[in-house]
Amino acid sequence: MTGSGAQPPPIDTSRAHSARMYDYYLGGKDWYPVDQEAAEKVKEVFPFIVTGARANRDFMHRATRTLAAEYGVRQFIDVGTGIPTSPNLHQVAQEITPEARVVYADNDPTVLEYTDALTLSHPRGRTAYVHADLRHDDVLEAPRLRATVDLDEPVALSLLAVTHFLPDEYGPYEIVRSMVERLAPGSFLVLSHATPDFNPAAHDAVAVYRQSGTPAQIRSRAEIERFFDGTELIEPGLTSTHRWRPDGDSGITDADAFFYAGIGRKS
Ligand code: SAH
Repeated sequence: MTGSGAQPPPIDTSRAHSARMYDYYLGGKDWYPVDQEAAEKVKEVFPFIVTGARANRDFMHRATRTLAAEYGVRQFIDVGTGIPTSPNLHQVAQEITPEARVVYADNDPTVLEYTDALTLSHPRGRTAYVHADLRHDDVLEAPRLRATVDLDEPVALSLLAVTHFLPDEYGPYEIVRSMVERLAPGSFLVLSHATPDFNPAAHDAVAVYRQSGTPAQIRSRAEIERFFDGTELIEPGLTSTHRWRPDGDSGITDADAFFYAGIGRKS
């Protein structure tokens, strides 16, 4: 973990990285030829990857707005944050609550390069970035995180499109549970996760990720629900990303979105 300001790890352009492939699907510019090649392969076997990524990003916006505006959440921790897109989580939260404090974390050195963009806070709020890996680092103990958010007060912990990069052998349920356990009562877990339930061809996309060196595991509804143990899902429960408190008709189907999303509240 380089939360203490150690030398940043080098960017690896010899193999595809999930953050840069995701940026490619979203139409961003922060990818290398190796990412483009892998992302094009995924699109070939599973073209829904593009609608799914957009619907997931839109869910992040609505979830953050809902938590800030309706539940008064003022602290956010977003792990597996990805290469920033506009608006990013802190911009959505601080538009409603300028004092909001936001900590971002990711394990990809490419995302680390965007620390400045990720931490350009509203002057009344505060933001921080922590380079950390969910599999090995105790993100909640990072000094920079502790200096930015108060874990004795409620926070929204978001794990969006990230736990499907933790196959069962990494102990994803234990990792999430250990984080949720340490959050104050009144905190929220915001989680989205790819699923084959609506579109079994999603397994073909996973195969391309694995071939390009990124372990991944998509999960069924029941398996994804387990991540919310210790919390109670707020309305409308675990749904397809585009059905979670939609702003209007997104025009896409569950098969296009191929994700479940939900927000659990810890009492
Ligand atoms: N959360 C964003 C980006 C999702 S892309 C969104 O939903 O729009 C998945 C992100 O998770 C990538 O940026 C990738 O680098 C990060 N990631 C994957 N495995 C991780 C791990 N073990 N620890 C921390 N971040 C991880």
